[in-house]
Amino acid sequence: MFTEKLINGNIKSNIYRDDLNMLIDSHCHINSEDLRLEARAVITRAIDADVRKMLIVGCDYEDSCEAAAMAEDFSQFGLYASIGIHPHEAKRYDKIPDAFRRIVKNKRVVAVGEIGLDYHYDHSPRDVQKKMFELQLQFAEEFDMPVILHIRDAMNDAMEILTLHRNLKMLFHCYSGGLEYLNEVLGMGGMCAFGGAVTWSGKASDELREVVRTIPAENILCETDSPYMTPSPFRGKRNEPAYVRYVYEEIAKERGITVAELSRTVEDNAKRFFGWD
Ligand SMILES: [Zn+2]
Ligand SMILES: [Zn+2]
Repeated sequence: MFTEKLINGNIKSNIYRDDLNMLIDSHCHINSEDLRLEARAVITRAIDADVRKMLIVGCDYEDSCEAAAMAEDFSQFGLYASIGIHPHEAKRYDKIPDAFRRIVKNKRVVAVGEIGLDYHYDHSPRDVQKKMFELQLQFAEEFDMPVILHIRDAMNDAMEILTLHRNLKMLFHCYSGGLEYLNEVLGMGGMCAFGGAVTWSGKASDELREVVRTIPAENILCETDSPYMTPSPFRGKRNEPAYVRYVYEEIAKERGITVAELSRTVEDNAKRFFGWD
């Protein structure tokens, strides 16, 4: 079992299995190059670590198709999918792939994303990113789907666009807007998902932990963004959904509650947001 392996490896978790109900990884890329060939083993380790639901996120057309297919293949393990064009990939598209209109109706597809703006890397020109972002927000409205947002160093522009789509259910994945934008995000009914960065040391993570302590419980979700953003004590190695427990532990510690309590809250939040059973 996962826990035993950790103990044998001298990385003893400070939570006990009995405390756990159900953990949810609201953002992972099991469909990525790094994880897809080992999907079954990755999912098995997640189940052993009490992860009962995982959302596989699409970043381009092929990636989204694979996310939807995997969610269907592994549906008995609580896998779901979202489809979208990541801002990095926006330059490859001038419209939403036609097939999205069909795939979005698959019952394991529960969100549109990840979509947004990334001015940190600027892999696509900003006007192109904005255009694809806007198109996908309209697409989500048309199909009445929640959106998973990837916003990096672009909160001003993103909020300006999102204000015109306040009716959408929004999840700020890997929330990095700090306390500065938190009230605005909450004012739009936005959810914030926190990942490995809450476990890291450094100023940015200190600020993130301040957000984690401040944010109302009903706006919190947990994620790995695996294979990226690996939490301590595995930082620098490949991430996977099983490690979402370290995110739960850190958030519970910061808020002075038990992991069991946090997991119940996050379970309710995810159910409300994604509309799954
Ligand atoms: Zn992202
Ligand atoms: Zn991601």
